[in-house]
Amino acid sequence: MDSTTQRYIDNLAEAIVKAYDITIPIHDIDAVVQKMGGVVKEQKGLDDLYDGTICKTGRDSFSIVISPFQSQKRKVFTVAHELGHLFLHMGFQIDPVVWENQDDTVYRRFGSSEQEYQANEFAAALLMPRKEYVKVLKNNVRNGRVDISAVASYFHVSNAAAGNRGRFLGYLI
Ligand SMILES: [Zn+2]
Repeated sequence: MDSTTQRYIDNLAEAIVKAYDITIPIHDIDAVVQKMGGVVKEQKGLDDLYDGTICKTGRDSFSIVISPFQSQKRKVFTVAHELGHLFLHMGFQIDPVVWENQDDTVYRRFGSSEQEYQANEFAAALLMPRKEYVKVLKNNVRNGRVDISAVASYFHVSNAAAGNRGRFLGYLI
């Protein structure tokens, strides 16, 4: 992913946090989805290959279906990832023409790895916005080392997700 795309995704997530008045850290991702006009459902029969899917259900509504067979942290990240598809690839509240053309009956599956990568970056940026991340990171340096598990627990994400975000932002190696 090029740096222009990275910057775009970061700024978009920040704008969405502001527009929907989302409090960071996010304690209840389902409530955030509801605020946007969507619902989150869990479904056991979901294709084993997918942690989650998203589809348009109406003019201003959408539905995210996630597999129950994941940890709570993983579920939150999956929902945030699907929101990435919603704003980045389905045009929701961003591009009326693209949104208009979304099929509301068939699950949209995002095949390209670039789109998957972008949705993951969006998820990380939504759950750990740059400014908050840097502040929390600086507050969790002990003896010259970052306590990444403290950062992760603040944002309710896995250590891996918190570490990736730090590397992405250039604060961790
Ligand atoms: Zn995806």
